[in-house]
Amino acid sequence: MTNFLQRFYIATALMVLSVTSSAVPTNMLIVYHIGNDDKLYQDFENALTDKLNTSVGSPTIFVEHLDLQRFSSVDYEKSVRALVMEKYANIELDIVIFNSVAAAKVFDFEHPLLANAHKFILERRDVSPFLASEYTFNLRLHPDYTKLIDVASRSTNSEHVYLLTPDDRQDSQLERIKQQLSSDAQKVSFIPLINTAQAINALSGLDQRSPLILMSNYSLSDGEILNPMQVARRISRIVNQPVFVAYDSLIFENVVGGHVVSSSLTADFLAEQIKRLLSGYSVDTQIDNVYSDVFNYRALNLQRLSADRLPHAHLILNKPASIFDLFLQELMYIVFVLLILSGLVVFMLYSNRLLRLKQDQLANSQISLQRIHKRMDVATNATQIGIWEFDLETSKLYWDQAMHSHHGMEAERFNQKLSSWLDILNVQDKVQLEALVNECIQTGKSWKLRYSVVVGNTTKYLVCNVAGVKDKNDNVIRLVGTVLNVTDSELHQQRLQEQRIKAEQATKAKSEFLANMSHEIRTPMNGVIGAADLLASTPLSEMQAQYANMIKSSAGGLLHILNDILDLSKIESGKLDIDPAPFELKTLVQQIMSSFTLEIARKKLKFKLHHSSYIPDVVNSDALRIKQVLFNLIGNAIKFTNEGMITLSIEFVPITGDANAGSLQFTVTDTGIGIPKSHQQRIFKSFEQVASNKDYIAKGTGLGLSISKKLAQLMGGDLSLKSEVDEGSAFTLLVPVTVAPKDSLNKLDSNVAIIPNLKAKRILVVDDNDINQTIVGQMLIDCGAHVQYAKDGSKAVSMFKDEHPDLILMDLLMPVMDGIESTKAIRAYEAEKQLPRTKIIALTAHALKGYEESCKAAGMDDYLTKPVNRNELYKACME
Ligand code: ADP
Repeated sequence: MTNFLQRFYIATALMVLSVTSSAVPTNMLIVYHIGNDDKLYQDFENALTDKLNTSVGSPTIFVEHLDLQRFSSVDYEKSVRALVMEKYANIELDIVIFNSVAAAKVFDFEHPLLANAHKFILERRDVSPFLASEYTFNLRLHPDYTKLIDVASRSTNSEHVYLLTPDDRQDSQLERIKQQLSSDAQKVSFIPLINTAQAINALSGLDQRSPLILMSNYSLSDGEILNPMQVARRISRIVNQPVFVAYDSLIFENVVGGHVVSSSLTADFLAEQIKRLLSGYSVDTQIDNVYSDVFNYRALNLQRLSADRLPHAHLILNKPASIFDLFLQELMYIVFVLLILSGLVVFMLYSNRLLRLKQDQLANSQISLQRIHKRMDVATNATQIGIWEFDLETSKLYWDQAMHSHHGMEAERFNQKLSSWLDILNVQDKVQLEALVNECIQTGKSWKLRYSVVVGNTTKYLVCNVAGVKDKNDNVIRLVGTVLNVTDSELHQQRLQEQRIKAEQATKAKSEFLANMSHEIRTPMNGVIGAADLLASTPLSEMQAQYANMIKSSAGGLLHILNDILDLSKIESGKLDIDPAPFELKTLVQQIMSSFTLEIARKKLKFKLHHSSYIPDVVNSDALRIKQVLFNLIGNAIKFTNEGMITLSIEFVPITGDANAGSLQFTVTDTGIGIPKSHQQRIFKSFEQVASNKDYIAKGTGLGLSISKKLAQLMGGDLSLKSEVDEGSAFTLLVPVTVAPKDSLNKLDSNVAIIPNLKAKRILVVDDNDINQTIVGQMLIDCGAHVQYAKDGSKAVSMFKDEHPDLILMDLLMPVMDGIESTKAIRAYEAEKQLPRTKIIALTAHALKGYEESCKAAGMDDYLTKPVNRNELYKACME
């Protein structure tokens, strides 16, 4: 079954393919029996060519008009036949179409030219089939007059029609039509067309409302043979009534229409049959459905016939093109123009909108400019900033109101010249302002000038700023600047300055007072300590030794307080210098620990030293000050701890990227009473004591931490605290240090007594205070020196001249002549006499910075402060 279907489909496809594509005749001859080339024939030929035209190719069509009706003799037919045969002798004809039996009859179908060709005969008249060979077809075309009459009468709404017939004597077709129409006899009048005159005559008398129907061929008795087209043309010119015809090719000019044999449909049918024949299929020789109702729009209009009456599915020719078609070009042009116009309008609207936008922007800018102006006004009024401008082109100076008011010059007096500004300034300001204006004109560089003007009785202080405005060539074209009235702040500054000076003077006075006081106290202290020292070095009973020690320790305590006060005043007056030098950390720690061993043991506390894995051996810093701070911290820790432990931990924190620099971090931790949070800031202030436990209050001056913190900061570090009440405190001293090589070591003062050999040394001790004289003298005598004394400077000078001592210890403040003066005199004498330089050591209770410098300037070699420390004295004497 499937096989069968497949074969069926393939066969059908092949058939369709062959029918549609391969069946193309190459050469085709069309033979008409009358000689004419009217539209009927052309339509037929064109349609036939169209239909047979395939993608493979199209046939070549040859056409012959035999004109048989004009020359109807047998000779003529023979001649024509011979002519045609001759003409196409070399052409292989595939198809020959005869447009009537009459035309076919002229030819001999057995002739080689026609024998192999497929032959078609189109016959309109009802004749018996012309069977010249088995390939001959008789295509009968019969215009359906019954329908034509019906169409004509319906479309004209006329009961009656005229049928223009050929001469009825020779036309059997007419007979047949008449028979056909016999039932409609009363409806149809036959008008035979015999000759032109008769026709004109007959037609001019017709009822103009009834349509006239033309039949096909006419031969007039006056010898004129007319084809239907010629007839139709003539008739339609003569008559006024609607004309209908039987062939579509006749519908032109005034012909209204008809139920016509369509030459194009006929050609379609014929082409189809030719294709079938060439493809080997059977052919249909009976033409049907080549009729259609066709109307001429123009003639319909002329006759005022309504299209409503026309039969269904009719075709209308010459229909006027729609307005759109007619005016397409114009329409295109209009559309184009409209497009351009609308483009223009859009452009105008857009540019208008742009314009409006720009205007809006301008308006907005103006508004914001006004606002800026307003703000500027408000700002300049509020801040009293004066604005000025100097136009280099016109050399005109412009001032705003604030400028006038700043300079106390009314606008009327102002002549817009730079000189009017310069002239009101004092000479110095004038020169400066002029120079700066010129500089700005040259370079465009901005500047600022502070100057003053006297307005009335007051002096106003003003600050002027300027900037150069340049053109596109980088030339300064004008200067624009401001002037600010700074009188208030200037006066304020001046007051502050005065207050500062006063404060500085007060601090200085305080420092000097403290220095003086400490000097005054130190001098007797020198005596007390020195005497106690000397006393202790003599053979004493146990009790006496104890008393001597008590004197020493009380005096030491007093000296500590004095030193604290002195340090503080030094720090506050900026006279305390940090003196960094390499020192050994180990020694420093040992010294501190040994100082507190006894006290720690006495309070039954534990002491722990802890240090990080790496601590540099020798560092560069101020060991004395570090020691001072740590002494204070450990002293406090012991003081405020009753049980538990005191820890000193040392850590070295190197600075990243530099192995030789870092910070030393000393933390003194105790398990004592702790410090309340609220007091932790206060304890670093001078004279503050904030023990949570009243038992501890007033043990000390409250200066230790304040000095320690300041010292730490002077060293570039800091002192900080963490503490909890009843748990303990931890003070951390941070000091930046650099690691120093071991050989740079500066041995710390040791407490090991130095006993120098001063034997045979003649030393002159100059001091107005007997006790001090004795103490210092005794210390030197203890070492074998030969000591002489002088009570004032002038005595010292004269003794020097007489005795030429090896060494002079010179007090500074003395009656008659002070130490500085006498030193200068000694140095002058030495110079005069060209004597070797004698060492002079200053000995003073003045411990303030500055004294040492003046001593050295006067020619002294060393400087010792009272109370004199035995070791320091010996060291100075030996150097
Ligand atoms: P003072 O010489 O009076 O001790 P400081 O400046 O050294 O003066 O200390 C100020 C106050 O800070 C002390 O009076 C004490 O109240 C508190 N203080 C200092 N160190 C400690 C500590 N380790 N534990 C508890 N309180 C301390």
